[in-house]
Amino acid sequence: MTKLKKEILVATENKGKAREIADIFSDSDFNIRFLSEFRDQIPDLEIVENAKSFEGNALIKAIVIGEALNMITLADDSGICIDALNGAPGVYSARYSKEKTDEANNQKVLAEMKDFLDDEKRSCHYHCSVAIFDPKTKFVETVEGKWHGRLALEPRGTKSFGYAPLFLPVELNYQKTNAEFDASELIRINHRGKAFKKALLILEKYFQQL
Ligand code: IMP
Repeated sequence: MTKLKKEILVATENKGKAREIADIFSDSDFNIRFLSEFRDQIPDLEIVENAKSFEGNALIKAIVIGEALNMITLADDSGICIDALNGAPGVYSARYSKEKTDEANNQKVLAEMKDFLDDEKRSCHYHCSVAIFDPKTKFVETVEGKWHGRLALEPRGTKSFGYAPLFLPVELNYQKTNAEFDASELIRINHRGKAFKKALLILEKYFQQL
């Protein structure tokens, strides 16, 4: 008899991220569903991500969506933190420039880094926080993952999204940007992969003690 998999909602509508996350859960006991499948049930639901931390925004998303759909929900918030800019753009990564496009965000960061051209001054990392929320028991927990690297002097590569053309991962010896790879190729080392793997472990433990 096939075992009934437990349903978990992942509160993302980004297709690239959905593929990465589905990959992490592919061998698990969980049946991952994505927000795009349920959007018509909550057409007017407003989610105001106005926290000052990744963790705070992930919690807002998981709790608001989990309560609205009455499903165990995982929600993530991520961004890039540049040491020379005191951690900016951080939680403002997606809306750092006034145009709020990937290209304008990248150009703004490059302009702000023009006085930091030495390799050692260009260290940065991506951060991902994931919140786990069960609306039935009000269980809530957060985990995080980081991916370290260096900011390139100019954009390179067209794959992936966001700051990928500027991010040189330490694991690739700072030789290639993450935009030179499909997102799914980097899920084993990236910030989202690390955070969602931790979230999977928490869910497994949580269901054992229910
Ligand atoms: P989100 O909260 O995960 O949607 O990410 C916010 C912003 O951070 C995105 O719009 C990107 O600019 C940046 N970001 C987060 N993760 C990545 C990544 O894996 N590659 C490139 N940019 C990323």
